[in-house]
Order: sequence, then structure tokens, then C-alpha cells
Amino acid sequence: MLEELKATVLETARAAEAMGLCRHKSGNFSARDEATGLVCLTPSGLDRQRMTAADIVVIDPEARVVEAKPGIRPSSEALMHLAAYESRPDIRAVVHTHSRFALVFAVLRQPVPAVVAEMAHLNLKNGQIPVAPFGQQGTPALAESVKAPLQESDAILLASHGALAVDAVSPEGALLKAAYLEEVSEIYYRARLLAGDKPIPRLGTDDLTLRYPEAVQPA
Ligand SMILES: [Zn+2]
Repeated sequence: MLEELKATVLETARAAEAMGLCRHKSGNFSARDEATGLVCLTPSGLDRQRMTAADIVVIDPEARVVEAKPGIRPSSEALMHLAAYESRPDIRAVVHTHSRFALVFAVLRQPVPAVVAEMAHLNLKNGQIPVAPFGQQGTPALAESVKAPLQESDAILLASHGALAVDAVSPEGALLKAAYLEEVSEIYYRARLLAGDKPIPRLGTDDLTLRYPEAVQPA
């Protein structure tokens, strides 16, 4: 069931690894089927190069396994994905990585302020990428920790752990936001090294509002 969605989740997981956003077996990926509310999620402990679409697990909103190959279990961070969907009924996809520069700020438990224009794509409500409080991996505490910060931004840091990005349309959209998050974290890290004691200019709400040029009228 949900074969097309499973294939998209697998492609996104592989693309994230190719982009250097997650290494080894870290990171997990999911998409929610709007019609049924079921979630397609990457499995626990499988190498992404050997993973096939049939290894993607289907779970319901209560974390019950609806479909899985024998011997395959859902990611240990399934509860965190479900908490994200519960707290943001508008989203269709969740991407979780341990990408390096984002992790630097997650370790410091410091939000990344809006200093780069492309952060307009992250739906920031408070001018920064927030940090979710620490929750041990695989626990309900970690799941609970993502709910409040996801009201502020489509990309968040997880204290001493990693990053999470969500999208209202597709896993590709969530992956793009995870990539932006990593990129702006790296830029901010480098800017802070060069800035010394000088403040780094921040973008305001107006600067972060996406605007599209009006269609050019034919003469
Ligand atoms: Zn993790």
C-alpha cells in the first residue's frame, strides 16, 4: 500500500545522504498520506544504499505498524515524526538529520537568527530557528519537545541531537528546508567567527516575507 509515497520517502532519504546531510545510519524520513492519515517512515537500522521501497514501514497516528516486511521495524524516532504531524496538521512530510553545522548550534542550544534572505522559506514566526529542549532519543519526551518549536518554524534544532524540517507539500520540500537549515547554520557559524564582538545584522519580519513579482502585462 502507498507504494508511490514509499518510493518518494526512499528517494528523499538517499538524496539527503548524497547531499551530506546525514551519514552512517542516522536520520529518518517520513510522509503522511492525506486520504488515510497513515505515515510512511524509513525503517530502523538499515543502510540507505541497500534499502528498497518495500522496506519503508507504514504506521498509523498511534504508532501501530500497519505494514512492514518481516524483520523490519519502524525508525526508533517514529514518535517524534508522529508528534510533528499531530502538532502541525498542515504538514505532509518530515525530515530528520544530524547535519553538522546545525548540530553545532543544537549542541550549544542556541537558536540561529534570521541573517540570510533564503530563511524566508522556513516560515519563521519569531525571526529565528528555535531549539527544542533535550529529549532522549526514542522517548515520548523527545516527541513532545518538537511540538512547540514547530509552531514557530518549519525547521528546528533538537538540543544536543540534530535537526528537523517539515513541509506542507512533499518530502522533497522538507529536504530542501533541511538543506537550507544546514547552509544558514554554516554561514552564521562563519560570520560569527569573523564578526568578533561586532553584532551581525538580522532580518526583520518584513524582510522575511516572500514576495513574487506581478506578472508582466503584454504590451
Ligand atoms: Zn536523531
